[in-house]
Amino acid sequence: MFTPTRAAALDALELFLPHAGRDYARDRNHDTGLERTNVSRLSPYLRHRLLTEHEVVAAVLARHRLPDCEKFVQEVFWRTYWKGWLEQNPEVWHRYRREVGEFWLDTDAVSSDYRHAVTGRSGIDAMDAWVSELVITGYLHNHTRMWFASIWIFTLRLPWQLGADFFYRHLLDGDAASNTLSWRWVAGLQTAGKTYLATAENISRYTDGRFAPTGLATSDRALVEDPLPPRSAASVADPITRVGRIGLLLHEEDLDAASLGHDHPWLTPELQAFGTGHSGGEVVATAAFADPADRSPASVSDAVHSFTAGALEDAASRGRSSPSRPATVLPDTLDSTVLRWAESERLDAVVVPAAPVGPVQERLAALGNALASEGLTMTTVTRRWDALAWPHASRGFFAFRERIPDLLNQQGL
Ligand SMILES: Cc1cc2nc3c(=O)[nH]c(=O)nc-3n(C[C@H](O)[C@H](O)[C@H](O)COP(=O)(O)OP(=O)(O)OC[C@H]3O[C@@H](n4cnc5c(N)ncnc54)[C@H](O)[C@@H]3O)c2cc1C
Repeated sequence: MFTPTRAAALDALELFLPHAGRDYARDRNHDTGLERTNVSRLSPYLRHRLLTEHEVVAAVLARHRLPDCEKFVQEVFWRTYWKGWLEQNPEVWHRYRREVGEFWLDTDAVSSDYRHAVTGRSGIDAMDAWVSELVITGYLHNHTRMWFASIWIFTLRLPWQLGADFFYRHLLDGDAASNTLSWRWVAGLQTAGKTYLATAENISRYTDGRFAPTGLATSDRALVEDPLPPRSAASVADPITRVGRIGLLLHEEDLDAASLGHDHPWLTPELQAFGTGHSGGEVVATAAFADPADRSPASVSDAVHSFTAGALEDAASRGRSSPSRPATVLPDTLDSTVLRWAESERLDAVVVPAAPVGPVQERLAALGNALASEGLTMTTVTRRWDALAWPHASRGFFAFRERIPDLLNQQGL
């Protein structure tokens, strides 16, 4: 269903564009089954930035007036909002990681109810069908994700962290912020005390009668947790190093060197050749690396591995540092592998696209130390889209949503 290339992503965007206006606002909550045209199914591409939020919103606004496509634009901003929020509350991520790690340390403690649920034997027909769809396709409709999480937590009474982990291992769009915070939202942790309860009537209505599960929980007491520490400001400033021979290292959070170069023209070889924005540094090599297995102690599905590997190959084929210098796909994410690449290219500095809170950010932090110990600098560059929006994700989405017209304006949209 999802070919991991930018070309396929652009085709999918083109196909969806006519539906992104009022049709989307009216029909988006229906899960009609595999042949969906009421939602974009762009998330695996956006998640890896084979497509950027900026270009998706720009294409939609070129086709529809903002009042008509507002709903779709807001949904794209949900992704941005979750990232900005987690950036300011990283302890939520660290706790989730610790708790999932503890479950997987003692696999005997993972209950048989859990095993039944993830192998499609929960006894609830809808859940069992959704497990199968998720495992086979790597995708679920948004409404279905909400029902699934709600039934998991309130009917099956399984730990939300293990449900989030199951999604994260199988979703092609598996994303630290959107996934963890959506599960928390359903559980009543994200908006304290406000839960989401799935009902048979709602499921039946929005699946066009395909499912009407019986025996669902009728009450949903919100989960509780220890208070979180005060939020920290989103850090989006880039201490730019532009000296000597620079290597651009792409990763699975951001695989489009060309649009990164629009935000940071000094990274673009064509512009460097003309001296634009060039101040003493030159991008002489590009590489890409990824390890989706970092997402869970239990690793990820073959489908996720293969989508990520394909996306990486595609990024490398587009990410040449010059016509004669194809980009390299590094075989793994070990610090020593990056150091060998840096040495073979005689690099002085490595530039990476900023990774939001999550496994890649953790990996890059360790890599930065390893490079520094060899006398190399590592610089992260933040997308303008994120830099402008993240600081506003400090409260609820509705306050953030008010800023969307301004954010669009600031980006010339
Ligand atoms: C429990 C749960 C877990 C989720 N886990 C993830 C995840 O790991 N990764 C992920 O990208 N999304 C996640 N979502 C959000 C949402 O379900 C998916 O982004 C959406 O279903 C993707 O399908 P689409 O591209 O057809 O969306 P469309 O409806 O066409 O929306 C367009 C784009 O907007 C963004 N978007 C839409 N809705 C949301 C939302 N509620 N939150 C964040 N971004 C949104 C996505 O990038 C999406 O591609 C989760 C939602 C829930 C309830």
